[in-house]
Amino acid sequence: MRLLITGGAGFIGSHLAEWALVQGADVVVLDAFASNYDPALKQANVELLRLRAARASGSFRFVRGDVRNGELLDRLFARHRFTHVAHLAALPGVRPSLAEPRRYLEANVGGTVALFEAIRRHPGTVRRVVVASSSSVYGAQPGPWREDMPPAPLSPYAASKAAAEQYALTYQRLLGIGVSCLRYFTVYGPRQRPDMAIARFTARALAGQPIPVFGDIQSRRDYTEVGDVVRGTWAALLEPGTGFEIYNLGSGGPFTLQQLIAALGRVLHRPIALDLQPPAPGDAPATWADIGRARERLGYEPRVSLEQGLARYVAWVRWHHQWAQGRPGLSAGGRSRRSGD
Ligand code: NAD
Repeated sequence: MRLLITGGAGFIGSHLAEWALVQGADVVVLDAFASNYDPALKQANVELLRLRAARASGSFRFVRGDVRNGELLDRLFARHRFTHVAHLAALPGVRPSLAEPRRYLEANVGGTVALFEAIRRHPGTVRRVVVASSSSVYGAQPGPWREDMPPAPLSPYAASKAAAEQYALTYQRLLGIGVSCLRYFTVYGPRQRPDMAIARFTARALAGQPIPVFGDIQSRRDYTEVGDVVRGTWAALLEPGTGFEIYNLGSGGPFTLQQLIAALGRVLHRPIALDLQPPAPGDAPATWADIGRARERLGYEPRVSLEQGLARYVAWVRWHHQWAQGRPGLSAGGRSRRSGD
């Protein structure tokens, strides 16, 4: 497999790159460092990824650039003749998309179109493309959510993901290659984006500060450990055929915020104080994946329980904190300007 991962310097993409290298793929990561959050932390992730990748094999290349840059894509496709593409490059985050809807449209929809156009200009090599989508496309519908339910976005971010799915379907028909959209559900784990709830909660709890909780503490989320998401994404990349598919990659068992915070307290061995805040616009009251289709067709089976996943994440935060000591500007928690997934 010659694999292009767009957004591969990000949280999920960097784990996918490591996994793909271990599986024997040649991997090119294309990333613009476009995220809103702590550039020093992002740089640290890339550094780690590079070291790890170099140790694992000589089959890794990192290219800094924008997925909307057609000339750059042409050079990459001509040189590497990719057989598979994982398109993860996007601006994530529900709440900031309310402030910058056009930026989200241009990066998430424009980036998807630019990528498929490049594949169109280089026919004959790419067999399958997987596109990172999001549970947020389901909006506030009652769960469990099945892939055949109509999208009902509540934020520009969710709308950009729903639109990207439609473009993915369109290009699957135009190009006759296999395309799968993967609806990720609140992914967490080592190197996770510092704006996400579990990262912010952990950083504050470790600092002995109360955790801000927006809205209903009984609201539910389908938290998915990044290792499970990577295994599901890999299975989707390996699928044969030229069809179009959508898969929920979640845990299939939602937890309330209260249960999440209680589990984090158990992992950290300390009580956690709460700072209750009004609900944030754009957030779904609950997310809940029906993972039957991914189970049946991809052999997807989430293996990591919430408590195991939190323990793994906390261990990484502690290790990273130590690693970052002596590297000016790096910190374990990062400085958050965003939230949501
Ligand atoms: P992330 O921000 O860590 O990674 C995204 C990467 O894409 C970043 O490194 C960013 O620099 C890069 N990027 C953005 N725009 C780009 C562009 N125009 N050109 C090149 N690179 C660009 O986010 P993540 O959590 O790893 O998410 C990966 C994907 O999964 C995203 O598409 C996101 O929308 C989706 N997703 C994530 C979650 C989650 O819980 N983390 C949930 C649902 C969907």
